[in-house]
Amino acid sequence: MSDCLFCKIAEGAIPSNKVYEDEQIVCFHDIEPQAPVHVLIVPKKHIKSLDELTSDDAELISHIMLKIKDIAAELGLEGGYRTVINTGDDAFQTVKHLHFHILGKRKLTWPPG
Ligand code: AMP
Ligand code: ZN
Repeated sequence: MSDCLFCKIAEGAIPSNKVYEDEQIVCFHDIEPQAPVHVLIVPKKHIKSLDELTSDDAELISHIMLKIKDIAAELGLEGGYRTVINTGDDAFQTVKHLHFHILGKRKLTWPPG
């Protein structure tokens, strides 16, 4: 999607502080971290949100879920971490391209802010 921020980051057209990349996903540090460690896992495929997932995406979603622990370990989050997916305006999803937040090393508030 040409005017999508996370598509542009996934393509490398907009720079990011990347921590992991493979053929299906990219992971980079959030520009406005809400915890000492805060990264986003983004599928390279443009999917607007969880609401738009189809069974065709089952392998991709499985891939992301299985990568989370590896990325968390790489980031030194052996003490634990939170994984957040915001869906839609009422959840304050600001970027309309599916992404998984991983937050760690504490500063946990719920709801955030
Ligand atoms: P959400 O509110 O779930 O849509 O989260 C979007 C996240 O993207 C926020 O935590 C933003 O700080 C983050 N974000 C926005 N622009 C960028 C960017 N250029 N690089 C990295 N993270 C970004
Ligand atoms: Zn996109």
